[in-house]
Amino acid sequence: MSLVYTNENCVGCNKCIGACSCMGANVQAEKDGKNRIEVDGTKCIACGACFDACKHDAREFCDDTERFFADLAKGERISLLLAPAFKANYPREYEKVLGGLKQV
Ligand code: SF4
Ligand code: SF4
Repeated sequence: MSLVYTNENCVGCNKCIGACSCMGANVQAEKDGKNRIEVDGTKCIACGACFDACKHDAREFCDDTERFFADLAKGERISLLLAPAFKANYPREYEKVLGGLKQV
């Protein structure tokens, strides 16, 4: 399952497709004869735009924060990819967050 996924509320209205800037991240599917839009986790960048676009609360995400910190504590080697928006949204905090993670 991808980080962002479609739940049972999906009515196949396609609004998420229009909101998404990642080509192919939203994939047409069918369940019980009804149209729905699934997320291709290999293309989705988890930007969250479809959460705002979807009026049916049909988008959810897997919160793997606890697993992330557990893996860090175990000494797993982890690469961090940070969206540029993080710096824009947290101009005063982002260096502390990065420094803190690096320390751990
Ligand atoms: S996920 Fe939401 S916006 Fe996308 S097709 Fe389903 S109901 Fe519509
Ligand atoms: S989270 Fe962003 S990239 Fe992923 S499907 Fe939704 S709009 Fe597209």
